[in-house]
Amino acid sequence: MTIPLLDLAAQYRGIKTEIDAAIQRVLDSGHFILGEEVDALENEVAAYLGVGHGVGVASGTDALILALRALEIGPGDEVIIPAYTFFATAGAVLHVGARPVLVDVDPQTYCIDATLIPDKITQATKAIIPVHLYGHPSDMDAIGAIARKHGLKIIEDNAQAIGAAYKGRKTGSLGDVACLSFFPSKNLGGYGDGGMVVCDDPALAERLRMLRAHGWRRKYYPEILGYNSRLDTLQAAILRVKLGYLDGWNERRREIAASYDHGLADLSSISAPHEAAGCRHVYHLYIIRTTARAEIQHALKMAGISSGVYYPQPLHLTQPCRGLGYKEGDFPVSEKACHETLAIPIYPEMSPEQINLVLETLSSF
Ligand SMILES: *Cc1c(COP(=O)(O)O)cnc(C)c1O
Repeated sequence: MTIPLLDLAAQYRGIKTEIDAAIQRVLDSGHFILGEEVDALENEVAAYLGVGHGVGVASGTDALILALRALEIGPGDEVIIPAYTFFATAGAVLHVGARPVLVDVDPQTYCIDATLIPDKITQATKAIIPVHLYGHPSDMDAIGAIARKHGLKIIEDNAQAIGAAYKGRKTGSLGDVACLSFFPSKNLGGYGDGGMVVCDDPALAERLRMLRAHGWRRKYYPEILGYNSRLDTLQAAILRVKLGYLDGWNERRREIAASYDHGLADLSSISAPHEAAGCRHVYHLYIIRTTARAEIQHALKMAGISSGVYYPQPLHLTQPCRGLGYKEGDFPVSEKACHETLAIPIYPEMSPEQINLVLETLSSF
């Protein structure tokens, strides 16, 4: 038995009839960019999250870039983001010409440490991007209070956390605008790249719709400088099928996480991930923590079990962020996490035998 980090082929086998029918429907329609399927997905995702509008775009990274542009954030502006996240969060800020201002993360949730944000706010600060990392919600009450006090926008990076909740409200509905990714490995993933921006403000949604299609409302008459960043019809049709399964899949991820939590409770060299009070974690990744990461990865590999490091580098040490003036030691919690965290397999189709093998291998270590 070998156990991958996730098994998208197994997922497809379970929903093949519906997916194949959805794909066939699009092929027969002859319509491949935006259109009715995308409109329907936008409405369904917005309703799922409890927000007014969804705007389908080409990727989660583009969702972040378009959200920043729609809020008119650009050169001269500062945007507060966590130092420990997938690079796209920083890349998007750099792409619009603004300056990412990094903040260390909480050692238990790996989300931005809200207590450290106020010190980083300047006259130039325009927005905060909390990242609900690994599927765990950021501390949105604290972040919301800071944003209100200083007149800042909140852009949720909800790429890893669709279906997660904070005090009973879904992540993606807790800020001014939220960004989703439909990258295949995400909890709601397509069969290619895709993303969405969601918000309540109709004027912001209108601007996002312009930005994703060359800045025009009326074809060939651009009003602002936009992009070509539209969601494919095929991806939308596939995602509409999968959206119906999302809650069940997330529930299954939580069950597997509970099995792991239980099995790891007695191990002294490995810590299980934390779920903060009032938070519903959706375990996009199940992240263990250990000072013996290389040895554990090796033991897992010998047993045929995949594992992964998310992420090997904090943002301030990445090449594109070098110019920001940070140095090693500036974000100690993030730096330590980069050395000690490890993702082990978690996906809804995992069998009890596979879960046991992972636990036995970790226990025998
Ligand atoms: C995946 C991801 C993105 C970017 O999404 P893409 O669809 O891959 O462009 C942004 N932020 C975070 C935290 C992500 O995990």
